[in-house]
Amino acid sequence: MLIRNCVMQKGEKMKIFFETQSSEVTGSSHLVTIIRDNKPLRILVDCGKFQGEAEKEKNRFFGFEPDKIDVVFVTHAHYDHIGRIPQLIKSGFKGIIISNEVTRRRAQISLGRSNNFVFSQWKHVEETFLYSFSREIKFAFFKNAHIAGATALFLRVENHNYSENYLFTGDYLEKSNFAQTWFPEWVYRLPLTIVAETTYGTGAKKEHGKFERELKEWMRSPSHTAVVPVFAMERGQVILKKIGEMQKKRKISANIPIFIQGESLVDYTNQYLAEGLIPYQPNVIPVPTNVGIRTLPQYKIVVTTPGMGKDGASRTWIEHAKKNKNIMLFKVGYAPETAPMGRLGQMNVKFMETNEFGSHCTGEEMIEFLSRFECIKNVILVHGNMSTKKIMFEAIRERRIASKVWILEPGEFIWKDLNN
Ligand SMILES: [Zn+2]
Ligand SMILES: [Zn+2]
Repeated sequence: MLIRNCVMQKGEKMKIFFETQSSEVTGSSHLVTIIRDNKPLRILVDCGKFQGEAEKEKNRFFGFEPDKIDVVFVTHAHYDHIGRIPQLIKSGFKGIIISNEVTRRRAQISLGRSNNFVFSQWKHVEETFLYSFSREIKFAFFKNAHIAGATALFLRVENHNYSENYLFTGDYLEKSNFAQTWFPEWVYRLPLTIVAETTYGTGAKKEHGKFERELKEWMRSPSHTAVVPVFAMERGQVILKKIGEMQKKRKISANIPIFIQGESLVDYTNQYLAEGLIPYQPNVIPVPTNVGIRTLPQYKIVVTTPGMGKDGASRTWIEHAKKNKNIMLFKVGYAPETAPMGRLGQMNVKFMETNEFGSHCTGEEMIEFLSRFECIKNVILVHGNMSTKKIMFEAIRERRIASKVWILEPGEFIWKDLNN
């Protein structure tokens, strides 16, 4: 299915161009163009949506012609990596989309029923195996712990005895609740161009254990309610697992009911259950997002979504918390200033905040990860704002981790001749 019919002649010239479609955290998408004998092959790595009020405009156009793209490789199912795939197809893309199986399954929820048409073009492959896409392209997905099912992508472009190797870290975390990053040994020894995420700079530290300490303290009183707004995918299941473990160890009462709100939170949670990632918890009860607060008991934990958006259940709970000091909000994820969850500090509500569940590596962790590779020719910094990219740029140069470090703007590219 994945082998294209093209045979390369000895002596042919080949050029590879790399460019990125985004210079920020969201809208993740990179284009690799391989030109052999004047015939281009175009590979897109992720096709994400730009998120946030100021960025909306950037979703209107692609920086390339969608009908000229041959294949889209998808690293994971977050919206900032897959959100524009339906638009890509509607704009003429006829090639195939390739990811691992979990990413394809998650995307069926993230993209929603109305976008079901994308899956007739979406194939899944096993992780770790090296596949041939064409005579000149090999690829493999490696497990990456950013979220369950997240991957890094390895791309190898060959021209007889010459090759270029690319490693896209994807959104990267070494170890998480449900996964551990794993690459085969041979990858560490190859000369590589690494396309690395830079969500955090080197200063960020995680506040481990804070959620458990504060939830335990708050739930001592049977008149208290804890509300935890979450991202529906992964963060919701991490929190449910954490609360379940606390109840099992009697750190909080095992009798506290856990209400979960939000259709997608329930759908993702069912996938995690079916995959054996979280245990069945009989006291976890789905309730509608518009449930009357008086119909629920006082002593409870509510895990709710949309967590960080402009409206939805979390907004309703903020209003309740303004009036009722027995409600405390547990902010376990990032929210922009434009969202109510991003402005809790300016509101008269009880809340705590922790970054311990962050699903990206810190800058130090990225440096440690890069240091494992024996021969990095280029590091291209993506998926971060300019200030974190500059911090990472300096850190990588200082420690001589790569021969060259790049920060690219959309429209700029790096190219390489691959002649035999
Ligand atoms: Zn992600
Ligand atoms: Zn991302």
